[in-house]
Amino acid sequence: MRIHPRLDLRRLILLLSLAVALFSFFNSFHASYRTQRDLLIDHTLESNRVYAAKLRQSAEQLLGNMHQQLAYSAGLLAERMSQPERLAGETERLTRQSRHFNSAFVVRHDGKVLAASPESLGLLGQRLDSAGAREALDKRRPLISDPYISAKNRLVVFVSQPIFAADGSYLGYVGGSIYLQHENILHSLLGEHFYQDGSYLYVIDRNRRLIYHQDQERVGEIASGNPVVERLIRGEEGSQALTNSRGVEMLAGFAPVAASGWGIVAQRPLDLALQELDGLMLNILRLSLPLLLLSLAGIWWLSQLISRPLWQLAKSAQQWDTEASPEQVRRVRAWYFEADQLKRAILASLALIHQRLGRLSQESLTDPLTGLGNRRCLQAQLEGWEQQRQSFAVIALDIDHFKQVNDNHGHEFGDRVLQHLAQQMSDCSRASDLLCRSGGEEFVMLLPGASLEAARQVAERVRARMGGTCCEECPSVTVSAGVAHWPDSAAAVEEVLKRADDALYRAKHAGRNRVEMV
Ligand code: GH3
Ligand code: MG
Ligand code: MG
Repeated sequence: MRIHPRLDLRRLILLLSLAVALFSFFNSFHASYRTQRDLLIDHTLESNRVYAAKLRQSAEQLLGNMHQQLAYSAGLLAERMSQPERLAGETERLTRQSRHFNSAFVVRHDGKVLAASPESLGLLGQRLDSAGAREALDKRRPLISDPYISAKNRLVVFVSQPIFAADGSYLGYVGGSIYLQHENILHSLLGEHFYQDGSYLYVIDRNRRLIYHQDQERVGEIASGNPVVERLIRGEEGSQALTNSRGVEMLAGFAPVAASGWGIVAQRPLDLALQELDGLMLNILRLSLPLLLLSLAGIWWLSQLISRPLWQLAKSAQQWDTEASPEQVRRVRAWYFEADQLKRAILASLALIHQRLGRLSQESLTDPLTGLGNRRCLQAQLEGWEQQRQSFAVIALDIDHFKQVNDNHGHEFGDRVLQHLAQQMSDCSRASDLLCRSGGEEFVMLLPGASLEAARQVAERVRARMGGTCCEECPSVTVSAGVAHWPDSAAAVEEVLKRADDALYRAKHAGRNRVEMV
């Protein structure tokens, strides 16, 4: 079964190059997508880590300030434990002036509240028995409590400073509460850093309890099973991608606050961090599109350039039998090695084919024994001249008693006689005359433009040269000839040969070795 390929070289090159170009384009697009994505993630993680570390610093500073302020109050109050107004004034100053604390207390060494602000708490004179109060009395040193439920049923962190008399005896403590579930100092510290881009913060204490969260509702919750919280508990600082308790992928940076055992986490949902990726990729696409289009155009142009010589060579080779074919092939611009080799090979083959064809057609028109034209050649020439209306004279020649020559001297000798006659005919004719061996020992001479008389003279010359001069062994071989003219002797070309034959016949009958005209 023959296969007719539908794809040409140009399409093949186009397809291949397009496939390669598009593949590498999408490949690099994908690679830059991955790179940009990783960069964005790394960048977000790092900026969250730096942010958490910065807030840790602020938180430590805040806690330091709180202790300093309480230490200052403790120093003042050591002398004034018995002056209720001064104590009340100091607690009020602590809550109003610095706004570090939601409430402030001065508590005596036995747990009795000597002063409390705001007064509305109604704790004055009472004995405090909350966890924070007990811890402060027990430890008698600067403290930041873990969150606990206060006497007024609030989730609080209590910061306290012991009050010692000049002689070193323990008098009690001064402290301030931060109401975790109300507006507090942490809100002003952390809340102002709240970003509109979806990033947010939370703070946990050493027991994984949320002590600050944008979502107030969540304050007091225990954040368990969160890898970032676990790392904070271990005192690590860093950043990490994680899926939070609500199944949202987050990029978190975190830093522990050593002074209080708290941990600060700044995080941003992965989706939000990657939001700008779409825009970035669109930008990359927009920037690389002109170059892509340009390279596609380049590919198209190159495919034309590469395939054109081969296509032209193939087309010219199809017309190998025309004279114009080698010329067409020569004109093809074979600008690269393979095309050039192919062009040379085609030219060499065409030259060989044309040479062989020429030889074959020459052979098909030639009589091998004498080298004269054969009957086919004669016929072709007659048709040509008839078309061109070229007048001519015909001489029909026949060797006399040739049978006897053969019989007496052998066939080979006869052949030599035939060759000898051909030589005489050639010697007596012009280059433009056509000499043919039309049969066994019958010859025809066509003399274009010659008159009947001129032809007769030529025939006479041939006859004379043959007569008695053939060769030494056989001096007696003679020829008879009949001469006719076209169009004078006959209107049709076929007819004029017959006329010449008729004249030859007459020459034979008249005794041979003579020339007769129509
Ligand atoms: P005529 O004078 O009447 O022409 O007598 P002739 O013997 O020539 O008679 P004819 O023309 O009939 O004889 C032709 C002879 O030519 C017969 C054949 O043996 C011989 N002949 C034909 N072709 C060749 C050839 O190629 N070589 C040789 N040696 N002889 C040939
Ligand atoms: Mg004959
Ligand atoms: Mg004869």
